[in-house]
Amino acid sequence: MRVITYYNVKERQQWCPGCGNFGILAALKGALHELNLQPHETVIVSGIGCSGKTPHYINTYGFEALHGRPLPVASGVKLSNNRLTVIAVGGDGDGYGIGVGHFVHIMRRNYDLTYIVHDNQLYGLTTGQASPTSQLGMKTKTTPFGVVETPFNPVASAIVGGASFVARAFAGDIAHTKELMKEAIKHRGFALLDVLQPCVTFNKLNTYEFFQKRCYKLEEAGHDPTDKDKALDKAFEERRTDYEKMPIGVFFREQRQTYEDTLPQIKEKALVEHDLGKIDVSVAYSELM
Ligand code: SF4
Repeated sequence: MRVITYYNVKERQQWCPGCGNFGILAALKGALHELNLQPHETVIVSGIGCSGKTPHYINTYGFEALHGRPLPVASGVKLSNNRLTVIAVGGDGDGYGIGVGHFVHIMRRNYDLTYIVHDNQLYGLTTGQASPTSQLGMKTKTTPFGVVETPFNPVASAIVGGASFVARAFAGDIAHTKELMKEAIKHRGFALLDVLQPCVTFNKLNTYEFFQKRCYKLEEAGHDPTDKDKALDKAFEERRTDYEKMPIGVFFREQRQTYEDTLPQIKEKALVEHDLGKIDVSVAYSELM
């Protein structure tokens, strides 16, 4: 097997020492390497935030989109060239706050994409404001008396919303996160991997120790990811147990038609390979004139 290295990026990683983003990055590089994916056939699209720097640190094609917009850009990349492996990355504020409208609609379309969310339960880059996944009662700059809003549940939302692969990882367990990333990337259809990511600078509640004490692996607990009702039940376990038990692993998976499968135009070859010179656009022009 030809060895591919994704490590030859000169840019220094500008995350705080000890940040969970390092674990996610290491797992992603390992997953790409072990799947033997070629750098020129892989695209990583990010939003804005600490997680948004990820494409800078991996030697594949990359695109840093606007805040909350990695999913529409990633789906555009996929439709333009459906032969590419396309991975969107973002944070909880980026994806579940600003970009939540895209999140909802991309799941029901079932594009063949992987979406990795660095879920640190707050806005890190803007120095620690509450985000949609901040825990009830958590004190931040914007919630000095504690969060009072019910946290967004990304796993339950994805199962209900139509994602065909839904998993969660803990950034402190790099080997497990890497395996989940490999499964998500290999899955045909929209795959969400929500990664519990300690923000060591601003989140003093959801620390490495916090997750280490509470996370357990679904596969070791005999969970059947093809059972949608059980997957949904597991998605609510941390709330039910007041964060005493936090499952990680694959909650749900199913195989169904992808959005790309419905497009005869890209069955034989990717959109970018079509000869645009043979397309008669005069009718469209005449309607616009
Ligand atoms: Fe990581 Fe938090 Fe620092 Fe951002 S602010 S780099 S999430 S530790």
